[in-house]
Amino acid sequence: MIIFKYAEQLARYIQQQKTAGKQIGFVPTMGALHNGHIALINQSKQTTAVTVCSIFVNPTQFNNPTDYQLYPNTIERDIMKLEAAGCDALFLPSIAEMYPRGTTGLEHYDLGYLETLLEGKFRPGHFQGVCQVMFRLLNMVQPHQLFMGQKDYQQCMVVSRLLTLMKSGIQLVTCPTLREPDGLAMSSRNMRLSLHDRQLATTIYQCLVFIKQQLNQGVSWPVIKEQAEKMLTDVGFRIDYVELADAKTLEPVTVTIQSYPGARVALIAAFLHDVRLIDNMLM
Ligand code: AMP
Repeated sequence: MIIFKYAEQLARYIQQQKTAGKQIGFVPTMGALHNGHIALINQSKQTTAVTVCSIFVNPTQFNNPTDYQLYPNTIERDIMKLEAAGCDALFLPSIAEMYPRGTTGLEHYDLGYLETLLEGKFRPGHFQGVCQVMFRLLNMVQPHQLFMGQKDYQQCMVVSRLLTLMKSGIQLVTCPTLREPDGLAMSSRNMRLSLHDRQLATTIYQCLVFIKQQLNQGVSWPVIKEQAEKMLTDVGFRIDYVELADAKTLEPVTVTIQSYPGARVALIAAFLHDVRLIDNMLM
C-alpha cells in the first residue's frame, strides 16, 4: 500500500492508474478503523481495480470540541489493517494540506431541509463540515465510485446531495452496517465506552429491533416511540432523538397506518455518559 501525505502526489498516482484504464474506488474515513470500515474496502476491491482510503479527522465537522479532541487515533494499527485488507493507497493529509487557508470562513452548501432535522438539528454545522471535507477529498481523489456506510444514513443522503451540487458523475455506493455479535453497530467511538457502558450500548440495537417488531404488529408510532425511549433512558442513555422517517426523504412519518406506502427507517442518537452513538434500521 502506498501512503500519500500530499494531494499532488496522490493525484499523479491516480492519473497513472486511470491512464492504465483502471477504475478508482474511494473509502473516506476518520481512522480508528474497525471491520465496518474494512467491509467498505472489501466492497471497493470487489468492484474497482484500485482502492484508495483516506484517514483524516476533519475538524470542521465536529460541533463538540471535546469529541474532536478525544477522537481515537490508532494510525499504526489502521495501516496494518488496510495492508491486510489489500488497500492500494492511503491518503493521510494534514489539516494544512486539506485547508491551506485555514478552517474559518469556509464555503457553505445548500443542503435544504436535510440540515434541519435529526443529525443536522442536533449537531449544528456538522453536515457543512462533512461537505467541506468531502468536496476537497473528492476533488483530490477523483474516484469513479465512492463507498460509504448506511450506519451514517443521513450523511449518505447529504453526500448524495453534494454530488448533485457538484454535478459530479461519481457513483455513491451505500454499504450495510456491520455489527458486533450483540448487535451494536461498529463505530470508532465504541472504543471510548467503559466496559459497563459497552454492555449497555447494545440497547440501541435492541430498540431498533423492538421498533420493527411493533410496527409489524400495527402498534402506533407514538406508543412505540415512548416505549423505545424508556428502554434507553432506563439503562442511562441521554436521548437526542428516536425517530421514524421516510427512507427516501428522511421526513418524519407521522401517520400510524401499517401500510405506509414507502420504505421507512428508524433512527436513534443517544449519549452514554459523554459518548454519542447513532444507529438506524430500515423497517
Ligand atoms: P468514520 O470513520 O466514522 O467517518 O466512517 C467512515 C465510513 O465508514 C463512513 O462511510 C461510515 O458510514 C462507515 N462506517 C462506519 N461504521 C460502519 C459500520 N459499522 N458498518 C459499515 N460502515 C461503517
